[in-house]
Amino acid sequence: MEENIHKVGTLYVVATPIGNLSDASPRSIEVLKSVDFIIAENPKISQTFLKKFEIDKPIAEFHQHVSPFKLAEIMIELAKGFSAAYISDAGTPTISDPGSRLVSAAADMGCPVIGIPGPSAATTLFSISGVASNRYYFLGFMPKRDYRKLLTDLKDFPDPIIFYESPYRLYDSFEILIEHGYGDYYCVVGRELTKKFETTYRGTVKSVRALIYTKDEYRGEFTVLIAPPNLAPDPKMVIGPVKPSKVGAIHTWKKRLYKTSIK
Ligand code: SAM
Repeated sequence: MEENIHKVGTLYVVATPIGNLSDASPRSIEVLKSVDFIIAENPKISQTFLKKFEIDKPIAEFHQHVSPFKLAEIMIELAKGFSAAYISDAGTPTISDPGSRLVSAAADMGCPVIGIPGPSAATTLFSISGVASNRYYFLGFMPKRDYRKLLTDLKDFPDPIIFYESPYRLYDSFEILIEHGYGDYYCVVGRELTKKFETTYRGTVKSVRALIYTKDEYRGEFTVLIAPPNLAPDPKMVIGPVKPSKVGAIHTWKKRLYKTSIK
């Protein structure tokens, strides 16, 4: 009897590298090779990754602005019993990326939804932050509007805060943080994490702002962590005065991290 019960397909939500393709897990590749079709935030962007691992599957597109009709087409395939893997442009889908609408539609329809964990810029930065905390508040992208209210509301927040920022807004974000009294907060900025020009900046919000801009190193992808001074790993890092010439931006593959300490 049981063989006659129709089974809906499984939706896998697969994390992909945030830059370094070697960070793709064997399981993620296995799943992408085993599903009937792939759903990608942007199929063109995912081509490099898929080609590198010789993954050649039919691809459907799913992003924030996809029409309900397109979503319905994907759901029909899952309803027929075909399995699919969803990948975003980089990192973990739904973490400041589309995918939640797809996941909830699939779950509503009774599809098993399986996460294949892997890289994310936020967790990567947290893991190298050294903050004395097991918790953090993830803001996603700093909101374009209402960020002043948000920063005022968060002023007494006891835990580290992580946010994504575009290179075009990075300078303004640091200015606004300083304006709202976060200048002496411990700060770690991860630029181009896992990539060729990976750089980690550590210090206070004020000193890191100076570092990034005196070195004209504001191109690339950035993730920012700020934390109240009491969570800083080494008090030397947050006690001024800050002399940018002595506080090196760290190319992590070249120098030891302790060189960031302010003397
Ligand atoms: N889903 C992704 C994740 O799990 O990290 C995040 C996607 S979000 C659309 C893209 C933003 O994440 C970038 O603008 C940047 O702020 C941050 N980001 C992504 N890759 C990064 C990297 N290699 N280094 C630093 N930040 C990165």
